[in-house]
Amino acid sequence: MNRLWVRLSLAFGAVVMLAALVMVTVAFLVQQVGTAGGGAAPLNLEGPGGLAEILSRHYQERGNWHDVAPLMAAAGALLPSEGPFGAVLELDDAGGQVVATTRSRPERLPAHDRSDALSTPIVVASREVGTLYVLSASEDGPLDRLRALLLSIAIVGGLLGLLFGVRMGRGLAAPLDRLAAAAREVGAGRLDTRVAPSGSREMREVATAFNTMADDLKASQAQRRDMVADIAHELRTPLSVLQANIQALQDGVYSLDQSEVARLGAQAMLLSRLVEDLHALAQADSGQLRLNREPVDVAALATRILANFQSLAEQAGLSLDQDIPVDLPRPLADPERMNQVLHNLVANAIRHTPHGGRVSIRAWQEGASLQLEVADTGEGIQPADLAQVFERFYRVDRSRRRAQGGTGLGLSIARAIVEAQGGTIDAYSTGVAGEGSRFRIGLPLE
Ligand code: ADP
Repeated sequence: MNRLWVRLSLAFGAVVMLAALVMVTVAFLVQQVGTAGGGAAPLNLEGPGGLAEILSRHYQERGNWHDVAPLMAAAGALLPSEGPFGAVLELDDAGGQVVATTRSRPERLPAHDRSDALSTPIVVASREVGTLYVLSASEDGPLDRLRALLLSIAIVGGLLGLLFGVRMGRGLAAPLDRLAAAAREVGAGRLDTRVAPSGSREMREVATAFNTMADDLKASQAQRRDMVADIAHELRTPLSVLQANIQALQDGVYSLDQSEVARLGAQAMLLSRLVEDLHALAQADSGQLRLNREPVDVAALATRILANFQSLAEQAGLSLDQDIPVDLPRPLADPERMNQVLHNLVANAIRHTPHGGRVSIRAWQEGASLQLEVADTGEGIQPADLAQVFERFYRVDRSRRRAQGGTGLGLSIARAIVEAQGGTIDAYSTGVAGEGSRFRIGLPLE
């Protein structure tokens, strides 16, 4: 009873049956009104001067019912003889024998039909000498037939409705059952489970949405697995370098001089940066990245960052320049976080641009957003790598970048920060050495 298809089947059957029953009732009521009022309306039966009185006088004059037939025929002619309200007259004597009738068949009607009819006793000197009946014109009138037909329609229709409901209910419930089974499978960790879209458009849409959800779940599970493996791998490298160096020191292979301490310190710094980056990413993932948003003067921010990198750029033989109009609108952003992002982009640009190159920061307004771009004239990024540089731990040249101290998380963090502020970040490069790369940030201007 609690199942969808059972409920639908019963509802269908009930609706069809109810509709037919209403029609049967209406037909019955119409018939009642017809025989009770409409049929006898043109004829005065019981009133003064009515047919009953005329018949009574006729009997009184003759002392019997002889020659009453023409009288009855004349009275019967006043009634409609056909149609749903067709009526006939019948006169019975005191013994119940038919004396005269306007029916084509003169035999007596069955008792139950008689009890439905209008009847008037014919009284002469307080003695009942006969009974006048007004009967339905046919024993089985059109309304009776209609009523019987509607009753059968109610039963057959109800059954058909039930059958239709079963079919439809089952058709509706089957894809839902399959979906529920697949959801249980996915819940139990079998993420390869998919459902074949079937049934109505809505059902197919639900199935497709379910499959997309299962795909996403599978992808995010794989991503989580890769992430843990990547973290383990990234931690292992500096830790094993540290361990090997300390072992060598203990074994007396090296003496603890300044350069050795610096090497150990660099590995420890890489480890701590990795942990900090991971923490920032975890915060961004869980939406807990705290942002202190205020109008940011992008020109001042860029000037400060380029000044910080000036000596490093000089050492690398690079020129730094900035092209930002001073009257640019100020986007609402967290200046600390934006500093972190720009710092990362400029550090990357310097790292990937050979001697004699240039690193520049530009900003301009584009509609309702502020565009901020860090461009270099370095080695560029190959198209195949371009789509992946924002992914965690993605490095175009793994071993080289790690040796240079990169965690492979810088761009992922930059993206997380920019997106948390409602912005976008994209990378552009032709991949041709010397044409460099461009990283463009779009921040909404409220
Ligand atoms: P990393 O710590 O390795 O720099 P990032 O997430 O900052 O990690 O960058 C990911 C990778 O993208 C880098 O390893 C590098 O190969 C590539 N990349 C980033 N910026 C540039 C750039 N300006 N020019 C060329 N390649 C770049």
